[in-house]
Amino acid sequence: MEINKKLILGLEKKQISKEIFEIGHSSYRSDQIWHSIYRDFISDFDEITTIPQSLIIKLKDDYIFNSIDLVLKKISEDKSTDKYLWKLRDNEYIETVLMRYDPDGHRRRRRTVCVSTQAGCALGCTFCATGQQGFSRQLTVAEIVEQVLNVKKDVVKEKKNLVNKYSLKNDEINDLTNVVFMGMGEPLANYENTMSSIRILNDPKGLNIGARHITISTVGLVPQIIKLAEEDIQVNLAVSLHAPDNITRSETMPVNKRYPVEELIGACKEYFRKTNRKIFFEYVLLSGQNDTLEHANKLSELLKGLLCHVNLIPVNPTAGSSLERSKHNDIKNFREILLKNAISSTMRMEKGIDINAGCGQLRSSYISMEKKNV
Ligand code: SF4
Repeated sequence: MEINKKLILGLEKKQISKEIFEIGHSSYRSDQIWHSIYRDFISDFDEITTIPQSLIIKLKDDYIFNSIDLVLKKISEDKSTDKYLWKLRDNEYIETVLMRYDPDGHRRRRRTVCVSTQAGCALGCTFCATGQQGFSRQLTVAEIVEQVLNVKKDVVKEKKNLVNKYSLKNDEINDLTNVVFMGMGEPLANYENTMSSIRILNDPKGLNIGARHITISTVGLVPQIIKLAEEDIQVNLAVSLHAPDNITRSETMPVNKRYPVEELIGACKEYFRKTNRKIFFEYVLLSGQNDTLEHANKLSELLKGLLCHVNLIPVNPTAGSSLERSKHNDIKNFREILLKNAISSTMRMEKGIDINAGCGQLRSSYISMEKKNV
């Protein structure tokens, strides 16, 4: 019965090694299995050519490969962004986004995959389509890893095509460079599965995504930020701040009532004290809501003395929300105040608006379309 089988993509290498050893095979076989999955990109145990047939049969008896199926893939008009909609085994839907940061279409630029960690989200941020859909469940380690693995396979194919098309050397183009845990859900609310998936993605003999190329984004779960500071892995932390004071922040982010701004910034300072790592603050700009000069000054004051960088993000309009994107001039003035106060910032490039690339937007429109077709 499929249902009793374990998901191979949910296991870290040391777990595979232990399980293989327990059924009478040398644990070095786990290296060969690992290599086949994460370097050769097999999609079936029968494709592994380096292990004995008896082990293949055992693997097929005990494990399955896939836990997510592609339902829809949309590519933005400018070819910079691909959005994937996956169906899970219990008919939940999740999204993944691939973003290419290379205006000339190739060369050594970033390719970043943005993964989901939960089906839905319980935190209810008002500017977010996922937050409006409620929480269904935590994603498993396998469901998180498979999102990255599938996108990696696509990027590798794309890279091969570009190498041929432009007669480049293989190392002249990057494939997947970065992973951000910024898709549907709050990664730190699915803490153990998020960390286990990071160890799998980071494995040098597998996908080998460097820890410094992995970013965990949180709305600010204070105890988990402190816990993350103790982990022996140097990932980046991005905190969705979105407002510099409790009144403004609580209007769009209900979590602020549980962990108010001063507690959150205290946790960030503690995180920095323990890790010495710069913190990234995400700031979605909402017209008239959090983008005034007063907000910019308060933000500067709040972050003074903390090694950090602010990513300013013009909001992706969400259907049914009254929140609007900030005006060009307001954004410019906001940035100037940060600059004057020596707070480093960038404007996040807008990607994939034409394909509902904002978190939860494609899932939401697909589910309502499905309902209409019933
Ligand atoms: S922004 Fe993130 S934490 Fe907030 S509701 Fe959306 S998915 Fe959840």
